[in-house]
Order: sequence, then structure tokens, then C-alpha cells
Amino acid sequence: MQTNLADWIKDTPEGQEAGDILRKCVHCGFCLATCPTYNLLGDELDSPRGRIYLMKQMLEGEPVTEKTQLHLDRCLSCRSCETTCPSGVQYGRLVDIGRELVEKKVGRSFAEGVKRTVLKNALPQTALFSVGLAVGRAMKAILPTALAKKIPAKRDAGMRPAPRHARNMLVLEGCVQPAMAPNINVATARVLDRLGISLIAAAQAGCCGAIPHHLNDPQESHAFIKRNIDAWWPYVEAGAEAIVVTASGCGTMVAEYGYLLRNDATYAEKARRVSALFRDVSQVIAAESAKLSILLGEAKPVRTRIAFHSPCSLQHGLKIRGVVEGLLRDAGCELTAVPDGHLCCGSAGTYSLLQPELSQQLLANKVVALESGAPQLVATANIGCLAHIESGLNASSSTPIRHWVEVIDERL
Ligand code: SF4
Ligand code: SF4
Repeated sequence: MQTNLADWIKDTPEGQEAGDILRKCVHCGFCLATCPTYNLLGDELDSPRGRIYLMKQMLEGEPVTEKTQLHLDRCLSCRSCETTCPSGVQYGRLVDIGRELVEKKVGRSFAEGVKRTVLKNALPQTALFSVGLAVGRAMKAILPTALAKKIPAKRDAGMRPAPRHARNMLVLEGCVQPAMAPNINVATARVLDRLGISLIAAAQAGCCGAIPHHLNDPQESHAFIKRNIDAWWPYVEAGAEAIVVTASGCGTMVAEYGYLLRNDATYAEKARRVSALFRDVSQVIAAESAKLSILLGEAKPVRTRIAFHSPCSLQHGLKIRGVVEGLLRDAGCELTAVPDGHLCCGSAGTYSLLQPELSQQLLANKVVALESGAPQLVATANIGCLAHIESGLNASSSTPIRHWVEVIDERL
């Protein structure tokens, strides 16, 4: 697409990157069919091509309005369009740049600003979030149904094995996951322990930075990234083999640390090394598949019908497809068909809180798709999707949902 960037942006790093991405788009429209918001709303401006056009207009110096902001806000950042695009348009990077610029030009209403500030400050603070969650659980019976069904049940983490192996890997504990589902990383530690790998958590690490990143606050996001790098660095230097992430949404963020801090004189090299060490937990376990099959061969066979929800961050962001499904099959599970598996469940970070109507429509469609094969269990790979889908399943059935690594842990 021919693009003539305005003087105010064309010589900046963001302008050059956005210009390069825009020029790759040939306006073919293949991406429209796989965009969840276009599917729901049928408006070209709520499609990838339409949003690209809106961002192009802004970058070429045309006036930006709240309408531009609305269509960019409605985007889930699911990156389904990237998977479909035959020209390799990096829509995810473009929309990050576009949103940040629109935020500066259009601003937010007072109420919207307060909501975003609360989300940005409350969610990444595990202690604060834990207190809120405990209060919510205690008051669940008297809360309105819509709110009550968003509060996940308390999960027992069980025993975490003490580090004992020569091989060790770091794990990202994250922010909301330790409060909502501490069992996921403990189950991961048990599985890796059986595979001869000790999982270590660095005490000072926390939120991966995705929440402020998606709320258009790069400074705050970079502060979280640097805190994690500082916390992990002694372990990296001591030879930690990998940085394991069990929430694919956080994984996409850690995978991009090197890119996000590429212009930071102090952190660029460290960030690049941290991203190179990043592994989704599925990649770590799949690399040990020979050992895993011996262990699974010794385990009691149980055949469970599972519907696997592959999060957008896993299939479109990290481009990891079929790996978890293969591991679940190896563990003796039968995977049920999930129609439209490429579509987002509507969780998408803070999207379910900021765009509740669209999010609920996507959730309702996803629950129907997941339940269509009559599974005994739904499994997924990201805490945000897990909590969001659980709220939909609670409303429609009693099908449980778990992180897939818990299924492997249980088998072992
Ligand atoms: S599929 Fe790719 S090239 Fe075609 S319109 Fe969409 S983003 Fe542009
Ligand atoms: S990221 Fe998802 S919601 Fe946004 S334009 Fe692409 S496909 Fe549509």
C-alpha cells in the first residue's frame, strides 16, 4: 500500500516501523474472514484492513477522532489476522504503535481514564489482587450473578518439589495467576521434576508487563520488564537453561522483551538474551517427549475427552500449534473437535472488562464450540482464557476447565 507519512512521524522509529508494515499490506482482505470483531459487527472499520486504513490516515496527517479510537479499542489484539495474512503484515506491532499515538492525540474521558488507571495499578500487584479476590470469594453469594460468575473457585496448589536437579529453569510466576490459580505453576514444577528439571522462581519477578503494555503505557510496561530482567539475571548468569512461562499471554510478552527494549542502552542486550531463553511450557515438555512417554507408559491409563482451547497468544502470537494437542494425545486423552478454534474467546487481557458486550458474545460462541463435542473437560494454556471461559461454562454447564499441564501432572 502506498504510504506517505506526515512530517511529525516519518523520521521517528515508530513512524519508520509503521510505514514499513503499512507498505506490506496489499489490501487483499483475506484477513477479514478470520477477524472475530468483523465476524460479529460486519463493519469494515472493525476489521484488520479497516483498522490498518484508519492508522494509515492518522500517520499521513489526517485528523484523528474518538471514532478511530473506538475501532482500535474494539480490536482484541488476538493476531488471528497475522496468521491469515499472506503478505506477512505484522498487524500486532502496528496496532500497538497506532493505539499509543491515538491515546496521545484523543485522550480519554475522566471515567474511562480512571477505569484504565485502576486496572493498570491493581491487576499487576499480586498482593493487592489476592486481597480483592479473597474479598470477592467471601462475598460471592451476595454479589450480582454477572460479577459472581467471574470469580474463580479457590484451587489447591498441592506440593511443590524442592529444587534437586542439575538442570534448572526459571519460571515466570506473573501477577494474577499466583492469586487465581497457584496450582498451574506447582503442577508444572512437578511435571518438570519428573523429567529431571528443577523449576526456580525468582522472588523479585512479577507481572510480565502485558497489562500496562495493552493499556498503552509503555513506560510502566518497561518498568515491569526491567524488574523481571533484574530479578532473573543472576540465575541467567548462573546457567538457568530457560525461562518457562505457563500463561501464553505472558509468554508472548517475554518473547518480545528483546524487541521492546531494543533501543534501551542499558537493557537491550539483557532483554534480547532473556527473550532467547523464553520457552512456553509446552515447548519444554515436548522437548522431553521420550522421557515423558516412558513415565506415561508407567502411569495408569485414563481416557478423558478433552476440548482444547488454544489461546490466541499461543496459536497466533507464539505460533505454537498442535504441540499441546500432541502432548494431551500422548497422555491418552481424546481431543474433541472445536469449531472455529482460531477465534478468540473474548478474554484478551483487559478486553473482557473494557469491551464487555463484545467479549460476552465471543465467550458465548466459544462455549458452544467447546461443548459441541461433549467433552468431560476443557483445557487451555492461558490464565486469562481459563478464568473467562470458566465463567461461561459455569453459566451453561458443569464442564470443568483446567490448564493442560495439570492434566499431564495428574497422569504422572
Ligand atoms: S490479509 Fe494482509 S495484506 Fe491482505 S488486507 Fe489483510 S493485512 Fe493487508
Ligand atoms: S488482532 Fe484480532 S480483532 Fe484485531 S484486527 Fe486482527 S483479527 Fe481482528
